[in-house]
Amino acid sequence: MEIKRGTAVSPGVAIGPALVLDTEGYRIPARFIDRCQRNDEVQRLRAALREAAAEAREKQSAISQKLGKQYGAIFAAHAMLIEDPELVRELEELIQEKRYSAEYAVSQVIRRHAKALESLMSAQFSSRSADLFDIEKAILRCLLGSKSEALRQLTQPVIVLAHDLTPSETAQLDPKLVHAFATEVGGRASHTAIMAGALEIPAVVGLGRFLTDISGGDEVIVDGNRGVLIINPDEETRERYEKTRATISTFYRELSELRDLPAVTKGENSVRVQLLGNIEFPQEVQHCLNRGADGIGLYRTEFLYLNKTTDPGEAEHLDAYLNVLHSLGSGKPVVIRTLDLGADKFAKHVEKQHTEHNPSLGLRSIRLCLRNLALFKTQLRAILRASAYGDVRIMFPMISTLREIRQCKMILAEVKEDLEEERIAFNKQLPVGTMIEVPSAAIMAKELAREVDFFSIGTNDLIQYTLAADRTNEGVANLYSAGDPAVLRLIAQVVDAAGDKVAVSVCGEMSGDPIYTMLLVGMGLRQLSVAPQNIPEIKKIIRSVTLEEAKEVAGAVMKFDTARDVNNYLRDRTRRVLPDVVN
Ligand code: PEP
Ligand code: MG
Repeated sequence: MEIKRGTAVSPGVAIGPALVLDTEGYRIPARFIDRCQRNDEVQRLRAALREAAAEAREKQSAISQKLGKQYGAIFAAHAMLIEDPELVRELEELIQEKRYSAEYAVSQVIRRHAKALESLMSAQFSSRSADLFDIEKAILRCLLGSKSEALRQLTQPVIVLAHDLTPSETAQLDPKLVHAFATEVGGRASHTAIMAGALEIPAVVGLGRFLTDISGGDEVIVDGNRGVLIINPDEETRERYEKTRATISTFYRELSELRDLPAVTKGENSVRVQLLGNIEFPQEVQHCLNRGADGIGLYRTEFLYLNKTTDPGEAEHLDAYLNVLHSLGSGKPVVIRTLDLGADKFAKHVEKQHTEHNPSLGLRSIRLCLRNLALFKTQLRAILRASAYGDVRIMFPMISTLREIRQCKMILAEVKEDLEEERIAFNKQLPVGTMIEVPSAAIMAKELAREVDFFSIGTNDLIQYTLAADRTNEGVANLYSAGDPAVLRLIAQVVDAAGDKVAVSVCGEMSGDPIYTMLLVGMGLRQLSVAPQNIPEIKKIIRSVTLEEAKEVAGAVMKFDTARDVNNYLRDRTRRVLPDVVN
């Protein structure tokens, strides 16, 4: 049994067989086949060798044309090595006599040859070992297929284990067959993690290297509450987790009884907190309603780009928005955020003049929309048209200067004029909001408050930019904390600047983490927008504390000077209210 710890990003516990997706750059773990499968395995190996050799020859001719014959020759040598009769004989022998899987045989043999070359201590031979590793990867790719193929061909429930998954790959996971996933890299606020929440499957990211220790089919446990992956659990651990799984489902069943109750604090001075849901797809509106959400506080429309190669048109935007309004029913608001493309979200659709060294600091999100007015106006038209049919509000992401929000409003006014001319209905008083997710916006919140109707604090990016710690990089996860006093002071500043003039909510992952609920309410927040699966426990905490307690917590927290002290204190205070939700 082996236990790995990472970052819990989507709650729940799953137990099942592993599907290991990534192989590139990793050792293929020991795997054996049944005696009766040997001939089929040899055929599989031969097919993969043929395919890998053909690919190498294609590369040879492409590179020869582009760079010259001497470079193409490298790949000709690859093809010859792949087809080398001695190598083929060795591989087939391991399959026939030792019952190795084709992948394991390839990995073992090629790596042995590579090591032998490296040990010759000659620069010329060492560099040849890199070629051998390349060949190994090429054959393994042919044997194992691409990640998406592996995901499409699922027939039985699995737990997906990968080095990394992109948001698009995560979205392709079928929750009926993929019961959980765990990755070596990634952070709490990565979009992959957010997608896991949307699919409502347990997930842990940022586990560090573990793929080398596991074979496909091994039993694993993913604990999405505590951020733990257990490989080949012993009987006792397995039983313990079976029990935890049952307890968790009872706990969630109990929480579901709160569905129709409002999120109000206890006691005489009770205050009402509006609990809204964050969604990426229209279908998730139902997840929010099932848990008693007061509306949608963040609709991440960039997910309209998922698995698309072209920009969605006005009709496609409008269709999605009307779909959301229809599912939501009348009287509940939806905050539609304009496209937040770039950085780790669907960056490949984004046409850039040059590759950026720092995509998170580059031409992303609203910056991209302001440079691509056709794309921007298409979406604004659709949002305005949808506003004729329900309580729609518009929000601009990643605003970092006053000038940007003014530009957005100007373009919105132009689009309104166009619609008026065309006699198309829309809400002339459409509320306009801005995300506060860049430190400059938090600092300028007083001025921004004069420009908009509401603020939504995007802590995922605010933490990243305040602490200069990439939200997707587990290597700096120790710095990336919502409890950091610098982040908390910025939030306090924004709440203060908003005053009574503009409504303010928090919509980053912080608002869905129960340890921060008392703090946020104590700091004066009366609107929280959270992933649907977090709504019940956040509501439970709000209903379990008085406003005075929340204020006392906030008062104490603002005196701490490190994230560690803040988080320890908050964990302790939350544990007293709701022991089951604290890691
Ligand atoms: C945020 O940055 O906190 C946020 C809500 O937006 P996203 O996670 O989509 O960047
Ligand atoms: Mg953001």
